[in-house]
Amino acid sequence: MARGAGSLPELVRLVAGELVSEVCSVYALKPGDILELLATEGLRQDAIGRTRLRVGEGIIGMAAATGAPLNLPDAQNHPAFAYRPETGEEPFASMLAVPVRRAGRTLGVIAVQNRNPRRFDPGEVEELETVAMLLAEVLSAAGAQDSTAEGLGATVPRRFPATVLVPGLAMGPVVVLGAAPPPGRLLADNTGEELLRLDRAVAAMQQGIDALIEAGLPQEATGAASAASREILDAYRLVAADAGWLRRVGDAIRGGLSAEAAVHRVSGDVRDRMRRITDPYLRERLADLEDLAGRLLTTLGGPGAVKVAPPGAILLARRLGPAEVLDWHGRGIAGFVVEEGSASSHAAILARGLAGCQVILRPEQDVRRVYQRAVEARAARQAGFAALRDLPAETRDGTKVSLMLNIGLALELVQLDATAAAGIGLFRTEIAMLARGAIADVPEQAAGYARVLDAAGDRPVLFRTLDLGGDKLLPGNELPPEENPAMGWRSLRIGLDRPALLRRQLRALLLAAGGRNLSVMFPMVATVAEFRAARALLDAEVAKVRPAPGELRVGTMLEVPALMFQLPELLKVVDFVSVGTNDLMQFLFAADRSTPSLAGRYDLLSPPMLDLLATLAEQCRAAGVALSVCGEAAARPVEAMTLVGLGIETLSMPASGIFPVKALLRSLDLPEFRRVLAAIRRTAGGAASLREPIVSWAREHGLEIDRG
Ligand code: PEP
Ligand code: MG
Repeated sequence: MARGAGSLPELVRLVAGELVSEVCSVYALKPGDILELLATEGLRQDAIGRTRLRVGEGIIGMAAATGAPLNLPDAQNHPAFAYRPETGEEPFASMLAVPVRRAGRTLGVIAVQNRNPRRFDPGEVEELETVAMLLAEVLSAAGAQDSTAEGLGATVPRRFPATVLVPGLAMGPVVVLGAAPPPGRLLADNTGEELLRLDRAVAAMQQGIDALIEAGLPQEATGAASAASREILDAYRLVAADAGWLRRVGDAIRGGLSAEAAVHRVSGDVRDRMRRITDPYLRERLADLEDLAGRLLTTLGGPGAVKVAPPGAILLARRLGPAEVLDWHGRGIAGFVVEEGSASSHAAILARGLAGCQVILRPEQDVRRVYQRAVEARAARQAGFAALRDLPAETRDGTKVSLMLNIGLALELVQLDATAAAGIGLFRTEIAMLARGAIADVPEQAAGYARVLDAAGDRPVLFRTLDLGGDKLLPGNELPPEENPAMGWRSLRIGLDRPALLRRQLRALLLAAGGRNLSVMFPMVATVAEFRAARALLDAEVAKVRPAPGELRVGTMLEVPALMFQLPELLKVVDFVSVGTNDLMQFLFAADRSTPSLAGRYDLLSPPMLDLLATLAEQCRAAGVALSVCGEAAARPVEAMTLVGLGIETLSMPASGIFPVKALLRSLDLPEFRRVLAAIRRTAGGAASLREPIVSWAREHGLEIDRG
């Protein structure tokens, strides 16, 4: 066995003594997600190498699977307990199991057990965690890593299912951005000196971040875009200065660790917390912390992660933080692939417009050729799109369609001019708050909204009030757990129950308008009474804020099907309706929008949805109420064409949809399509989807339905 394994019996004996426990055992992760007993003090020695548990099985398996310590006074009666007779562990009641993790991967578990049913105190948990950190080095050196790691000499092409964060195509050599190696020196005697080193390193790191932000803002991101990059980066700076995590690093130093080891330890904790948090925005804030910890380690003089990549390389990383994106920007990176990330991640937001990629490793020659052609075709299409920018958004027969943008951060305002969109059909006000992790005060909110109005100029902006709740939670505002958060206490429901919050936002919007026109849209309205109550809060603020807005338009999102049965009353009180197809689809079909196995199961181009939209369009027209669609579906050319076919002539979408939709609409003979669509709907005959006949007709007529 490699270095370190020989000292394991010694280690488990020492730990058992130190924690006054009868048992201390180490389990190592083996290929196939098996945890094998590697050393033990107190259990039968002949169980070593024989006792095995799957990850997730038993208390040991659970600690490995969750990445979190388990502290159980009565482990044997825990529902997850898995009895292994060969170990002779019957007499031991309590157990503390701590996962052994390194660079985000679980390598094993260390556990102590006692006869007495007792809960281990926080100091003991801390001590075992420190041992686990040391052990991670031993296990890693002994080759306990995940056997799925690819050998260097691998030659077989591999495809990896991936989610596109930034649309685009790129080819290039892969450079793996490894985690910073663990610190060489773990323990330190001179706590004062280590704390001083930490203070100096924090100051240097913060200066470095300022310099990076100044130098690294994308050059093309001028005006509104740089303001918004700043929004993300300011949030990042706040995290950098956050006393909480720095205090935890200080505490770990006071516990005897070197400054490097303390940072390493806190960043490990952060990673573990991240694995347990599902909210993408909160995960992002923790990702910022992880990014910062890496920087702090480098500033402390530790060996940094890989920092060289040839121009045109594809960067492969577990995660990327905003500062890292800036770091790599300008070094000619063709794209990046992250193991953990979401479209709403700070890295993805900053990277949009910088670079993008999708993943095939070691493509075969013919695949390579196909992609080469695709890259060229895409470049040609982009050139064609540029020409579309200044052409009117209208169908071939001259029907004007208003194409607007869905945005949520000032960063995206630059898209207004880039796409020549008609305005902002959905400004998701909660996004900036989630990105910064807190609700801004009224002046700050007002300044943010004013920037949006400045950038939009004469173009309309529909500000949607806070759509928090569900899975969009702010730290410190944890809501009681709910069985179905998407249908729970969220969005306008929170706003009406906590009117001070909503009123502050409405005041900020009115202040931002400062006499200009203002459009306010309420989300998740389920009854006319809710709309009226929200409107009353707005009116109360209007009465107080001077100057009054120019034209004030107040509307509702239509996301809850119940509104369809209240249209006569609703249309008397709203100035506009905007259909949020993302939520409407999930509520109409009772299909959670964030359950991957349901994605694509129900189609917008289905008789019930098209009937609903046709009825809505008809009634809005009759009532003289403006109607738009702002769900993501509007960005898909076939859906967009169908919506226009139903008489919905304002579509709001992410920027990436504007040109493909415009291209299709400009070649569409709308009167003919309307006749065809009516016939298709009439003869639907219970079909689950009408996509096929609609797409066939579009193809037969040479319409470009696949551009994008
Ligand atoms: C929608 O539900 O379609 C919508 C636009 O709102 P969100 O996606 O922000 O819930
Ligand atoms: Mg919605």
